[in-house]
Amino acid sequence: MSSESEDFQAALETALPILRGMKKSLRRSPKATQTSLQRLQAILPSTFEKTGTEHSLTQTPEIASPRIPVNGDDGRLAKLERLKKDILGCTRCPNLVASRTQVVYGIGNPFAELLFVGEAPGEEEDLKGEPFIGKAGQLLTKIIGAMEYSREEIFIANVLKCRPDMPAGESGNRKPKPSEMATCLPWLKQQIELIKPKVIVALGLTAVEGLLGEPITMRDVRGKWLDYSGVPLMPTYHPAYLLRNQTLSEKRKVWEDMLLVLEKLERPISEKQRSYFLEKAS
Ligand code: SF4
Repeated sequence: MSSESEDFQAALETALPILRGMKKSLRRSPKATQTSLQRLQAILPSTFEKTGTEHSLTQTPEIASPRIPVNGDDGRLAKLERLKKDILGCTRCPNLVASRTQVVYGIGNPFAELLFVGEAPGEEEDLKGEPFIGKAGQLLTKIIGAMEYSREEIFIANVLKCRPDMPAGESGNRKPKPSEMATCLPWLKQQIELIKPKVIVALGLTAVEGLLGEPITMRDVRGKWLDYSGVPLMPTYHPAYLLRNQTLSEKRKVWEDMLLVLEKLERPISEKQRSYFLEKAS
């Protein structure tokens, strides 16, 4: 073996575990250039398979994401980009336009199979332009992680995309009004139509009411499958509620809802996942 080949082999042995780790954590295949892959294929032909114009590592096919098409994006990226521009420039609610720092469009994977929907941006989200980044958002990120997803794989949005304005001299956040959510809902509806999630999780009563456009009792709907425009909708508690009520039984209720979501998405569920909060929750 030439010195160049030995160097390349050594680099390959270093890179492969890193790539497999990336694939496991991202749950999709890392991408590489055609030239690099051709060179790798010449050395380890059984390690790679060709899939159209791109290639994927085949050592752990069970964790590849089926939701990201290999060839093309079915045009949704351009449509979502246009929609985003329209949403960011929206002026339908003069009072919210006057008080907002910016519109909070939403964040995540345009091909997400799972969409989390909250009620409205709070103060922090309004400042940063991203939903669910405060303490409740950090808890949501933990829940998403426990489901074996990352924030980059799913999509997170709110029914109302501008922070509800506060009376003069008052700080904090207020709940969005039904009329405000009804005005903004067509934007979320268009996002859902383009992203095509397999499941929507509505976080908290206000989000459920905003989506369905009618008064709801959380006790009646939490943990039960509803329907939003043909997409299965799972209502669960808002993470802020869990921060206020830190009992294992309440955490377990939300987790049971997430187990139903994982089952609906046909995701593997480990014994460890099934037993979260179980022993001391009853
Ligand atoms: S809340 Fe929604 S409808 Fe109202 S101005 Fe903001 S983006 Fe537009």
